[in-house]
Amino acid sequence: MPTYEYRCPDCADFDLVFEMKTVPDSVSCPSCPGTARRRMSAPRISSAGSAAFRLIDSTKRSAHEPTVVNSPGPGQRSGAAQKYTSNPLHKKLPRP
Ligand SMILES: [Zn+2]
Repeated sequence: MPTYEYRCPDCADFDLVFEMKTVPDSVSCPSCPGTARRRMSAPRISSAGSAAFRLIDSTKRSAHEPTVVNSPGPGQRSGAAQKYTSNPLHKKLPRP
């Protein structure tokens, strides 16, 4: 359901969620006994900007253009003696 903005003349703006067919032009203010009128703005239907949308967006973007890093991430050791596997059975494999 879309989010609509309301403005109380004595308080700050606030947002309320209504169905499109039931959105009232004015509501009672939640923080004072006054009446808040609906602000003329586009109803926010899209989920753009939400945490879920940002996660999906960054996942899609990294599929085509991986993020460039300047250092290994935490938990990754740097240096020449990097261990590739921790499986003890791999020690029995022939070495090049
Ligand atoms: Zn108010």
